[in-house]
Amino acid sequence: MAEVNLRDVRKAYGTVQVLRGIDVDVADGEFVALVGPSGCGKSTLLRMIAGLEDIAQGEIRIDDRLVNNVPPKQRDVAMVFQNYALYPHMTVARNMGFSLKLAGRLQKEIDERVAAAAAILDLSALLDRYPRQLSGGQRQRVAMGRAIVRDPQVFLFDEPLSNLDAKLRVQMRAEIKALHQRLRTTTVYVTHDQVEAMTMADKIVVMRDGHVEQIGAPLDLYDHPQNMFVAGFIGSPAMNFIKGWIEDGQFHGPGNIIAPAKDAGVDTMLDGVVLGIRPEHLLLDPAGVEATVTVVEQTGSETYLLLDIDGQRINYLGRERVAIGPGDKVHIRPDPARLHFFDEKTGQRLGAPASSGLPSASLPSPGLPSPEKPGTGRGSSPHGRKAGQEPGARARAGLGSAAARVLSLVGIRADGYRPELHYMRGSGPASTRVRGGGEPR
Ligand code: ADP
Ligand code: MG
Repeated sequence: MAEVNLRDVRKAYGTVQVLRGIDVDVADGEFVALVGPSGCGKSTLLRMIAGLEDIAQGEIRIDDRLVNNVPPKQRDVAMVFQNYALYPHMTVARNMGFSLKLAGRLQKEIDERVAAAAAILDLSALLDRYPRQLSGGQRQRVAMGRAIVRDPQVFLFDEPLSNLDAKLRVQMRAEIKALHQRLRTTTVYVTHDQVEAMTMADKIVVMRDGHVEQIGAPLDLYDHPQNMFVAGFIGSPAMNFIKGWIEDGQFHGPGNIIAPAKDAGVDTMLDGVVLGIRPEHLLLDPAGVEATVTVVEQTGSETYLLLDIDGQRINYLGRERVAIGPGDKVHIRPDPARLHFFDEKTGQRLGAPASSGLPSASLPSPGLPSPEKPGTGRGSSPHGRKAGQEPGARARAGLGSAAARVLSLVGIRADGYRPELHYMRGSGPASTRVRGGGEPR
């Protein structure tokens, strides 16, 4: 087992810069997932660790040894690919032992190692079969067996499950995770599937366009995404993004959505703010905003709704079953403890990270009067004004009153202001690209 350390790793194919300075540390025994949209450079990075691509710039260390110029065979890593082509004319046992045979190991040792790997992978009964006599999942396990028999310091996986059907993928996911818990071999696992990364990894590296956007434990990324790209990439269905502004501690969004914004760290007034709220953090509540149901999908365990609020599309996900159909009305409000705020221009998170997983302390009780109050003055907000231009009076007056608490429910405003709603998956503003998981702002 070994640590893997990447320092300012860069790669270009001709004039095309594919990796733009990657810093990642994989601890001894850790399972790290590299995740990001197709083409962001995951495979290139993995192949550089394996020694299959040369390193134009930067340093890669395995077990504290600089391996930039070490040939693949001497790096003591084993890679499992998406296309795990097995030799069709060889049995499972011979497929698994082939690399050891090439390395000139004695047959006795090969047999022992193959038997041990087969036991781990539950392949012992299949050692004499040929690949064509195996299911997809069994073949994938043989491919992993080929890596395991080598007892490497590091496992490298490149989307090993993407050729399997959905059910098998879930099963193999669990098997690979169990395997890691058993062997504790340092693992770097590439996937474009955030669910795979979330369920398997100790640590996730979110990449985009040759950069690292954020590194963290799975729930860290879910609870405290540092920018809109990570917020939109992690979680399914994707986070809702609602454009608006913050004034006097309140977020104001389309059609009159109002939400408490004390966590955004904005003193008085800031324009160009995006509220992020996950579909599963919206609550059905008679005191919330009225929304029209556009699509209903019930899976039995979950209810997914596509909602329309005054022209804005909002995704809702809940556990309760609801007897409604398209065209019906529901009332929703966001869980105030689960709000995220972003700077619209930079895409970076505003203020302190959102609270993580704790139940919200002070949910307004249902049954409070609806906050729909055209003409309360909130509707005449000077949208478009820059931060800092707001005279202090209104800010000082604040809203630390019962009115503020009522307004901290989501409300609908009547002035027709409709910022566009962003669906960010894979399309955040270019300026959110930060190198090496940089801090916001
Ligand atoms: P990912 O695995 O994240 O989908 P890759 O690492 O395979 O992405 O590719 C990253 C980028 O590098 C892509 O734009 C791809 O087209 C480009 N690329 C990969 N390999 C080569 C190559 N041998 N020559 C030129 N461009 C390449
Ligand atoms: Mg790839």
